[in-house]
Amino acid sequence: MNPRILLARRPSGAPVPEDFRFDQAPLPDLADGEVLVRHRFLSLDPYQRGRMDDAKSYAKPVAIGGVMECQAVGEVAASRDGRFREGDWVLGGFGWQAFSARPGKALIPIDPKEAPPSTSLGVLGMPGLTAWVGLKDIGEPKQGETLVVSAASGAVGQVVGQLGKIAGCRVVGIAGGPAKCAFVKDELGFDAALDHRQPLEAPLDAACPDGVDIYWENVGGAVQAAVFPRLRDFGRMVMCGMIAQYNGAPPPGPNLGPVVRKRLRIQGFIVSDTGWARYAQFRAEMLGHIAAGRLTWREDVVQGLANAPAAFIGLLEGRNFGKLVVALD
Ligand code: NDP
Repeated sequence: MNPRILLARRPSGAPVPEDFRFDQAPLPDLADGEVLVRHRFLSLDPYQRGRMDDAKSYAKPVAIGGVMECQAVGEVAASRDGRFREGDWVLGGFGWQAFSARPGKALIPIDPKEAPPSTSLGVLGMPGLTAWVGLKDIGEPKQGETLVVSAASGAVGQVVGQLGKIAGCRVVGIAGGPAKCAFVKDELGFDAALDHRQPLEAPLDAACPDGVDIYWENVGGAVQAAVFPRLRDFGRMVMCGMIAQYNGAPPPGPNLGPVVRKRLRIQGFIVSDTGWARYAQFRAEMLGHIAAGRLTWREDVVQGLANAPAAFIGLLEGRNFGKLVVALD
């Protein structure tokens, strides 16, 4: 049987356990060209909150009664595609379930000898790719510039900051609470880490005495309101996400009037626009950084499919510490 988590109903505000339903289905049959994958790690990501709503977006919502969407890494359990053999590791869009059958052409093979397989959901996966694409294409970091990153200890933020350091920036992270701030500064090597649970204005002035050249936006809300007025002329604001408003109405934002006077560039992007077409280049560059000791990562591993809904609810409240993945038995 295939255990899985379904969307039981659309959440009103923050998701609650009753919005999800545990279910078992027969194992899928394999058509020609398909591969049966036994999932080992599932990726829990903030965008999955958007897929629970029936709202206009760049991607379709999950249907009521449908399997919750996610990427996962797993091992091939059976194959009707000559390119894949039993035991091969693959990455794909598989859903919150233990097995899935997918066309071989939709799978990305991964080599577990390069790095632990779960990293293909984090530092070497979609969040890392998001950081790499957004910083290269929109942030355009230059030696000596100041880069501020929100949700700095998370899956995307931890990579953005480290790539910023590699590019020669002064990097300031913003995270929730002393433990995350200590990790950002001491283990990731950011120049400063500020706690958004405390007032941010004075610490931002102290950490960024010349202002902010690049603001990497992961959260929105009060953090955005504090950083925005500190952007310098010709600053860039990389609009990656605004998790603070995923569960409800948008909070009041900053006054965007200075965008003109300061000639700011504010650009949103979705990693899939150009990211996956450049995945091989990304992976090679990141593996080089890891081998040279320039890049590290932190994962938050939750055991068992049944614990996925609670872990996902926690992600939207900041209870994860690092890239959130679910390990399956
Ligand atoms: P994280 O691993 O960073 O987890 C989410 C973190 O967000 C929490 O741990 C918490 O960190 C912070 N957070 C949650 N709620 C709030 C809040 N109300 N106010 C402030 N901070 C909050 O997630 P990801 O790294 O996977 O994602 C980060 C952002 O990037 C999200 O907005 C996501 O939607 C976006 N994204 C966008 C992509 C794109 O293509 N544009 C692709 C991938 C991600 P803390 O405790 O430090 O506050």
